[in-house]
Amino acid sequence: MSKLKFVTLLVISTTFVIPAVQAADEIVVYSARKEHLIKPLFDAYTDKTGVNIRYVTDKAGPLLARLKAEGSNTPADILMTVDAGNLWQAAQLGVLDSIDSAILQQNIPASLRDPENRWFGLSVRARTIVYSTERVKEGELSTYEALADPAWKGRLCLRTSKKVYNQSLVAMMISRLGEQKTSNVVSGWVANLAVPPFSNDTRTMQAIISGQCDVAIVNTYYFGRLLKKNPDIKLSLFWPNQKDSGVHVNISGAGVTTYAKHREQAIMLLEWLSSEEAQGLFASLNMEYPANPAVANDAVVAAWGDFKADDTNVAKAGELQKQAVMLMDRSGYR
Ligand code: FE
Repeated sequence: MSKLKFVTLLVISTTFVIPAVQAADEIVVYSARKEHLIKPLFDAYTDKTGVNIRYVTDKAGPLLARLKAEGSNTPADILMTVDAGNLWQAAQLGVLDSIDSAILQQNIPASLRDPENRWFGLSVRARTIVYSTERVKEGELSTYEALADPAWKGRLCLRTSKKVYNQSLVAMMISRLGEQKTSNVVSGWVANLAVPPFSNDTRTMQAIISGQCDVAIVNTYYFGRLLKKNPDIKLSLFWPNQKDSGVHVNISGAGVTTYAKHREQAIMLLEWLSSEEAQGLFASLNMEYPANPAVANDAVVAAWGDFKADDTNVAKAGELQKQAVMLMDRSGYR
């Protein structure tokens, strides 16, 4: 071997070896959860362990498409997103792999994780009833189904059926009431709408404040954001179905990708995110509920009161998503 060839070989092998060594202490996360909600946790983890976390944030759809397109070349070790419907889709597409972690199974209740261990809830969001304290008495409210009653004609506001949150709500309703009863409920909601559905939960609540309607269904953290800006808003939360199924809950969560290059490190990060140490912060950054039942609610959230939550496995939101979308379409819910 000539001297030149030997040097070239040395350089090549060096450049191959060094990144591999560096990358062992780095995890790549694709996150549909926004940067300000994840960065404080990732920074804390890096401080604690020395493991660097790189992340890409985008909406759930584009991230999923990207993971699928990248296939085995993906740099992503973890996919983090909101709504069990989205996590279920990711698992169906084959981009999440089953992981065997006693810690995750211990920390996260069975109803908030994939029965096949491809994704795990890390926070709980409640989708509940919100009402005008000026025009509605608490005693008039009872269940999601009762909002289909003619008593609410012209008084209900809803967010669009295109949003996965409502698809999951209706999917879970199909799982508990069956297709026919759910169809009656959704048709009743549509008949009671004061105005066409809104693009987001905040606008939906603002319609109550401005007097367009009296009652709506929203995720509680959006109520929390409004309340933070204006502590005097004449709105209150109501916990429906307390005598039967409980409040509809969903999750934000994560799973390890099928082609993770740092699988063990990724599992350790998820385990830490499910721990008592991380769960309080994970939930409170977005005024959500910890998925780990050993962790207390944030004081702001606790002030909204305790409620019984539906403990049906949230995977149903994915399994019945297509059925829910078709049902809403047939019922005229746009
Ligand atoms: Fe949201």
